[in-house]
Amino acid sequence: MRDFSADHRGLSINTATVRKQRGQDWPLLQILDACAARGIGAISPWRDQVQAAGLAATAAAVKAHGLALSGYCRGGMFTHTDPAGRQAARDDNRRALDEACTLNAPCLVLVVGGLPGALAGQAAHKDIAGARAQVSEGIAELLVDARERGMPLAIEPLHPMYAADRACINTLEQALDLCDALDPQRSGALGVAVDLYHVWWDPKLQAQIARAGAQRLLAFHVCDWLTPTTDLLNDRGMMGDGVIDIRQARGWVEANGFAGYSEVEIFSSANWWQRGGGEVLDTCIERHRRCV
Ligand code: ZN
Repeated sequence: MRDFSADHRGLSINTATVRKQRGQDWPLLQILDACAARGIGAISPWRDQVQAAGLAATAAAVKAHGLALSGYCRGGMFTHTDPAGRQAARDDNRRALDEACTLNAPCLVLVVGGLPGALAGQAAHKDIAGARAQVSEGIAELLVDARERGMPLAIEPLHPMYAADRACINTLEQALDLCDALDPQRSGALGVAVDLYHVWWDPKLQAQIARAGAQRLLAFHVCDWLTPTTDLLNDRGMMGDGVIDIRQARGWVEANGFAGYSEVEIFSSANWWQRGGGEVLDTCIERHRRCV
């Protein structure tokens, strides 16, 4: 297992972690400057941040700073109620793939969608099995586009509390079942993003990480689970402030061939988003050394 106690070469910052500090959007290009100034070598940006900064300008800044990407957030949202919705999802996901290629990302992270309409407050139906079937079809279609572009797809299983509105793929086992069905040859084109916030509780976590192996372990996201958690979406903890044994899990992914970044992804409207961005980045560096 790699020793990160004395440096942060294995650290990546998911840029949502510092997206709106003290109520103000922190522009992506300034986030990249601040990361580079601290010797942070990798980032994972979100599409809306890239759109606001401009794709070409973002790609140029990434290159100028010599930054790597640990992923691109995000594609997915495959579930729909009609053919037009299906086509819109496919078109949007193709654009996401193209952006990921322009930014030289190692993978496009997929949050697959839940019951259609639920995220907007009104689910169109209660058929979660049907939603899961649509997800499988959507990923199968997108995989054709992904293979053409040489851009791997990373399915991110989300905690079951998001099954209705964000993602009906909720365990690593479920995600890997999809991978095995759609990419039985383990080509490297389809894998998983292991976000500890979503999967830390799973009694099968270690076994499923071993099942994934190096070909399927495409991304590793870290933060912490706070007790109590006061908001289902935006109360993620800084590493070390909660109950996840992050180092044990990093040991498991590394023992199975993962050699990529630990990507810090914290949504924290009441705490970390209320602080200065530089302070948050400095804390990420310190906690990465001590707790990841
Ligand atoms: Zn994540």
